[in-house]
Amino acid sequence: MIVLGIETSCDETGVALYDTAAWENGDLAAKGILGQGLHSQIAMHREYGGVVPELASRDHIRRVLPLLDESLAQAKLTLGQIDAVAFTQGPGLAGALLVGSAFAKSLAQGLNLPSIGVHHLEGHLLSPLLGTSAPSFPFIALLVSGGHTQLMLVSKVGHYELLGETLDDAAGEAFDKTAKLLGLDYPGGAAISKLAEKGQVGRFDLPKPMLHSKDLDFSFSGLKTAVLNQVKKWDAGELKSPEQMAQFHADLARSFVDSLVAVLVSKSEKALKQTGCKHLVLAGGVGANQQLRSALNEKAKKGGFEVHYPPLELCTDNGVMIAFAGALRMLADSKGLSKSGAFDIKPRWDLASNNLT
Ligand code: ATP
Ligand code: MG
Ligand code: FE
Repeated sequence: MIVLGIETSCDETGVALYDTAAWENGDLAAKGILGQGLHSQIAMHREYGGVVPELASRDHIRRVLPLLDESLAQAKLTLGQIDAVAFTQGPGLAGALLVGSAFAKSLAQGLNLPSIGVHHLEGHLLSPLLGTSAPSFPFIALLVSGGHTQLMLVSKVGHYELLGETLDDAAGEAFDKTAKLLGLDYPGGAAISKLAEKGQVGRFDLPKPMLHSKDLDFSFSGLKTAVLNQVKKWDAGELKSPEQMAQFHADLARSFVDSLVAVLVSKSEKALKQTGCKHLVLAGGVGANQQLRSALNEKAKKGGFEVHYPPLELCTDNGVMIAFAGALRMLADSKGLSKSGAFDIKPRWDLASNNLT
């Protein structure tokens, strides 16, 4: 079965074709990726310091068809060879989701194919199955992206339990806001991470919010405020050289990353202990972060658990994860399939509410 996946929830237009034969034969799951096209709108939104929803929707409209053609050409397939269409139904920006949903549903109707609405986070958290060391079920997923920070228990495809989540800012949001404070471009996650590598450990005593709380929740807005306070203190102090300024930024980035990583790692370990799971999956854009990856690898060695990552290029939004999640859901249960042409999007949507029975 060849599944077309369409992702348009935020500022990436992603299209991909996934052949389920790889999964069904127990082959490396990534072998099923036949073609993919991705366009990131980051450059377009950068001058506004964040995603402008209306611009995002218009750009998805411009990009989606050429990306479909590109994916088909790569896969050496024609439209007639597609068996089903998966699209991101939510959560995300309403206008952006509408573009993907309208496109997917219209195409499905035109080709007389079933379609399936996929939860964006399900795409993220199943994507480590496309990596070279795929996890086995059940596993804990640490989902750290631009809009979410959650710990989920994944017992199998379509069975998710939320164990804890952020009470305020998402980890990616904290990265992006801190980057802005340090004068870096949006989205600054990767840039902060690079800057932190040049920073000295422990120069600033930043908070590690909720590190010792009994639950599995997170809170990152206080950490960002602590960074802001350091920046204000620096600005109010005497004039320093550009070199001192650069070192200040690098050291602050280092302390920020260390605090955030410490909390993410500690809560992940707690979730593993609590559930008895031996496999941890890191998913979402912040999952590309090298400091977080090394800290988790370190703990895994000592803690008797395994960490699994998606291929690096599939950490941030893409069409592959939507085609793949849609495909796995269809294989698990055909109930989610629809022939309706309604553009029913879900800008706010709890993953667990979409569980299979
Ligand atoms: P959601 O999936 O919650 O709807 P999103 O799709 O916008 O949000 P992703 O595309 O999964 O989020 O991830 C984007 C986020 O990942 C941004 O906040 C970005 O700064 C962050 N990010 C990307 N690379 C890195 C990195 N190397 N280190 C830290 N953060 C990173
Ligand atoms: Mg994005
Ligand atoms: Fe995402």
